[in-house]
Amino acid sequence: MISFLDLKKINAPYEVAFREKMDVILQKGWFILGDEVQAFESNYAGYCGTKHCIGVANGLDALVLILKGYIHLGRLTKGDAVIVPANTFIATILAVLEAGLVPVPVEPDAATFNLDPKQTASSVTKNTKAIIAVHLYGQLADMAALSTIAKKHNLLLIEDAAQAHGAKDAAGNRAGSLSDAASFSFYPAKNLGAIGDAGAITTNDDDLAKVIHALHNYGSTTKYKHDFIGVNSRLDEIQAAFLNIKLEKLDASNRRRIGIAGMYAAEISNPKISLPEFGPGESHVFHLYVIRTADRDGLQQYLMSQGISTQVHYPVAPHQQKALEGWFDSPLPITEKIHGEVLSLPISPVMTDNEVRLVIAALNRY
Ligand SMILES: *Cc1c(COP(=O)(O)O)cnc(C)c1O
Repeated sequence: MISFLDLKKINAPYEVAFREKMDVILQKGWFILGDEVQAFESNYAGYCGTKHCIGVANGLDALVLILKGYIHLGRLTKGDAVIVPANTFIATILAVLEAGLVPVPVEPDAATFNLDPKQTASSVTKNTKAIIAVHLYGQLADMAALSTIAKKHNLLLIEDAAQAHGAKDAAGNRAGSLSDAASFSFYPAKNLGAIGDAGAITTNDDDLAKVIHALHNYGSTTKYKHDFIGVNSRLDEIQAAFLNIKLEKLDASNRRRIGIAGMYAAEISNPKISLPEFGPGESHVFHLYVIRTADRDGLQQYLMSQGISTQVHYPVAPHQQKALEGWFDSPLPITEKIHGEVLSLPISPVMTDNEVRLVIAALNRY
């Protein structure tokens, strides 16, 4: 059986270091906002190439705090329209709603699954104040084109980088440093995964960093002095400590993902299957390797019969979810087609070449 994602195997190489670190933390007896969080914020800002990193409780909160931070700074106002990719994970859209803003779903490019700059440009209205680019499945969105649109209309450009830790553009700039502010999730299954919930914000904007530092800790700038109506959304010491250990291996583990994707791209030759388009180098870090096929459910069942487990990201588009009923009225045909056809193949840094070959052979026999 080839599992879709073996988290136990992924974390096994870090077990000894984790246990040693756990002892240190228990000995110290300091569990919230201490040395480990501070070290992670500094390490991750350095890794992404940004001035600031603020650890928070999860990726959804990271995005909500960016939007609320910009509302406090007067850069956004409740009711403003925010462009989001129509085919994103629902969290992107929930964050916009949570902040009191209006999500405007825009169709993706079906070959890369990322925001289509042409559709984005034609969706800007006088109410539009921000674009959230999602680096979906681990591939950088076309940030150069989106940034041109944002500059032209004076919009904020925000990255939802929850699936793209470490992805690099041609100039070597990483996800998290390509916009005004970026949100990350360290949910266990992500490319940089904690052993529980965790998230972060990266930005070069001093004012935003200051507001978010307060907002995520009860709106407090100094202890027991509250300048904002904040929340409790902190990264805790244990998760930060584990992330510090795993960050050192992130590039190597992304390179392994890229290697596996290269094998899939070179050797899957079944005409019934469309492979994803991706740029060179490390612009796609393959959080997921997503193929498309007309009879998706049939292919998934066939692969299961061959001992290969796959997943669908995502079976239902956000605008067709019951929770969002009444929010979006126009049809989104590209998005709807994508959701009916996508299938995520197993990919992870701990997959062996032999397992990859078995997946390729099964797909070519289908
Ligand atoms: C995982 C994910 C999130 C949310 O992260 P959590 O840590 O689960 O809150 C947001 N956006 C995208 C694109 C994601 O994949």
